[in-house]
Amino acid sequence: MKVAIVGGGLAGLTAAISLAREGIEVTVFDPKPRESNSYLAQAGIAFPISDGDSLLSHVTDTIRGGKYLNDISVVWNVISKSTEAYHFLTSLGVEFTNRELEGGHSFPRIFTIKNETGKYIIPVLEKHAKEVGVNFIRKFVDEIAIYNKKVIGVFVEGSLLYFDAVIIASGGFSGLYRFTAGNSENLGIPIGDLALKGVPLRDIEFVQFHPTGFIGKRTYLISEAVRGAGAKLVTGEGERFVNELETRDVVAREIYRKMLEGKGVFLDATGIEDFKKRFPYIYSFLRREGINPKRDLIPVTPVAHYTIGGISVDAFYRTPVKGLYAIGEAACNGFHGANRLASNSLLECLVSGIEVSRTIIREKPRGERREVKYYGYELGNVDEVREIMWNHAGIIRREESLRLGLKKLKKVEADPRVKLLAEAVLKCALARKESRGAHYREDYPHSREEFRRPSIFREGTCML
Ligand SMILES: Cc1cc2nc3c(=O)[nH]c(=O)nc-3n(C[C@H](O)[C@H](O)[C@H](O)COP(=O)(O)OP(=O)(O)OC[C@H]3O[C@@H](n4cnc5c(N)ncnc54)[C@H](O)[C@@H]3O)c2cc1C
Repeated sequence: MKVAIVGGGLAGLTAAISLAREGIEVTVFDPKPRESNSYLAQAGIAFPISDGDSLLSHVTDTIRGGKYLNDISVVWNVISKSTEAYHFLTSLGVEFTNRELEGGHSFPRIFTIKNETGKYIIPVLEKHAKEVGVNFIRKFVDEIAIYNKKVIGVFVEGSLLYFDAVIIASGGFSGLYRFTAGNSENLGIPIGDLALKGVPLRDIEFVQFHPTGFIGKRTYLISEAVRGAGAKLVTGEGERFVNELETRDVVAREIYRKMLEGKGVFLDATGIEDFKKRFPYIYSFLRREGINPKRDLIPVTPVAHYTIGGISVDAFYRTPVKGLYAIGEAACNGFHGANRLASNSLLECLVSGIEVSRTIIREKPRGERREVKYYGYELGNVDEVREIMWNHAGIIRREESLRLGLKKLKKVEADPRVKLLAEAVLKCALARKESRGAHYREDYPHSREEFRRPSIFREGTCML
């Protein structure tokens, strides 16, 4: 059996290793694996495995944080596999250095490596993947080839390469927003490509903004762990206006409101005695930007950070297309609900990577050699799309603004896959006439029980 994996972040690498260990021929396509969001991940991974913690506590936190939109069976499934995910990493030689508390978690269960967790983990996985025979091709997958609801392979540089199964592990699409904490090239092209081919997307309106981005010479995240260690959020006048350990949506919104009032917002970390030792990478980054966190306030702004929605998959990471699977941030099966808890996404990457390999081994999909049309899209003006998303489908949304966003989008000359994905966010945000988790509607500021269900975007329409 030949399996293609689109994306070499944590989800893709975990699936690749798990499949290759079973003797399956695996090829990972990724032009820039060292620029993945997995590599950039700072804080860590939530594992509810320490003395005093419990699966139930982590499940409850995840559902509470997700504002009760989560698929409870998926939440149990993922969290109950956390010991396996932890073992997967440690058995490869990964050694965690700290355990931290982060917003929304009721126990210090975030396992980190010197607050540069991704940078330490990814090379270990890449090395092991090579040892077990995974092929790496540093190329972008242009399109996914599907015929009659069955995957045929992938197009690379216009050529069709045949595979029995294809796993989409291409990450999210926060690069579709003007300010993002992650890789700005994360445009969600494979997600848009599949949407154009009739594959449903789920909960696509839920876009998480990280409350404390630092926009200096580079955009950088001041991780939640810094607030967990006691840093306070203040305005320029020294006013404290939010509980710093609230979930990300609440903190991001409150910062954004202060900014709309024309006020600067800062993180005051001067009270953290051992800042340099606990957060060495953040410390040296700030020093390079001319800020000494022991003495100076750190200016912050919310940035698009994580896209909760994605390709709709079931609990076994299957799409409705035969032989096509999706994992990690590219996929959505209701684990995060309406709001992802900090450090739950890397856990999901590990579990979905392990789980999808079992699904494929069980299902043994068989490929088919046939010609499939190649579209050869051009990227076009993505900056205009980014501006529309930031202004009309951002932190605070309203009906007129969402409609205006859709109108503007129609006029943009850009890749139809990027446009369709942007349209999906705008349309589902419009359809969800309530506020829940990461989705905040100023005109419907409360959650409404009749909307406590997932949204599905298919063939240009959002069903809720
Ligand atoms: C700055 C930052 C810090 C974070 N910190 C944490 C944290 O501490 N804990 C946590 O749980 N989460 C964190 N997150 C979120 C987390 O890092 C991501 O959700 C997670 O890494 C996603 O992993 P992934 O494997 O699904 O995708 P990614 O890591 O995004 O990898 C996807 C890969 O696919 C490749 N790709 C995309 N399209 C194609 C294509 N068409 N063909 C070939 N390759 C393609 C990309 O180049 C990329 O390398 C953070 C995110 C950011 C941005």
